[in-house]
Amino acid sequence: MNKPIIAIDGPAGAGKSTVARMAADKLGYLYIDTGAMYRAVAYKALQAGTPLSDPAKIAHIARKLDIHFEMIENEQHIFADGEDITLAIRTADATRLSSPVSAIAGVRKRLVDLQRKMAENGGVVMEGRDIGTVVFPDAEVKIFLTASVTARAQRRADQLKEMGMKSDIEQIAADIRERDLRDSSRKHAPLKQAPGASLVETDNMTVEQVVDGIIAIHNKMVAA
Ligand code: C5P
Repeated sequence: MNKPIIAIDGPAGAGKSTVARMAADKLGYLYIDTGAMYRAVAYKALQAGTPLSDPAKIAHIARKLDIHFEMIENEQHIFADGEDITLAIRTADATRLSSPVSAIAGVRKRLVDLQRKMAENGGVVMEGRDIGTVVFPDAEVKIFLTASVTARAQRRADQLKEMGMKSDIEQIAADIRERDLRDSSRKHAPLKQAPGASLVETDNMTVEQVVDGIIAIHNKMVAA
């Protein structure tokens, strides 16, 4: 039997990446950040100067794009057409564009195909918005990770402070609300809790508690 697939979905800033990466590390599974893949398409569209008003061209960029992940000194890097774009996809422009780009059906189709291929042998922790609903509705472990807008905005502001960057918490909260609304109201693969997914509300939990909880769910499933 293949090793399980752990699908982790939830809104921006709920802590999915940290938690998914740690759970994958502990289990010796592959970690796949699907948000980075949508960001990669946004980055390529920006680089090519392709506007959002031309979704067919953006879908074409996605279809032609070669994406792969590589571990370098214990950090996961993402490559697009051979270029290491790990940092470039985190800019404000790429972040902003990634949400509307991910609403384009042709982009989703291409990236979902790639995600299924990457996880074909199991033993994967995959995080995103539609992993438990669309990409792997039959994943053995499904988690919906969330937190209040206030908690998520505070975490983001703390991260920026750590990086020595100034931030406006009200603006961060407004951006989070806008992304939530767009991600959950879009026509294709809207963000929602998958049937059978465990809801984990992280406001009053430490990262370790969340990771341990996910591993406990995984171990229970494997033992069953
Ligand atoms: O998770 P992250 O913020 O990096 O994702 C970037 C964007 O990609 C999000 O705004 C979301 O709209 C989109 N996304 C998606 N489906 C996924 C992962 C991310 O639509 N599975």
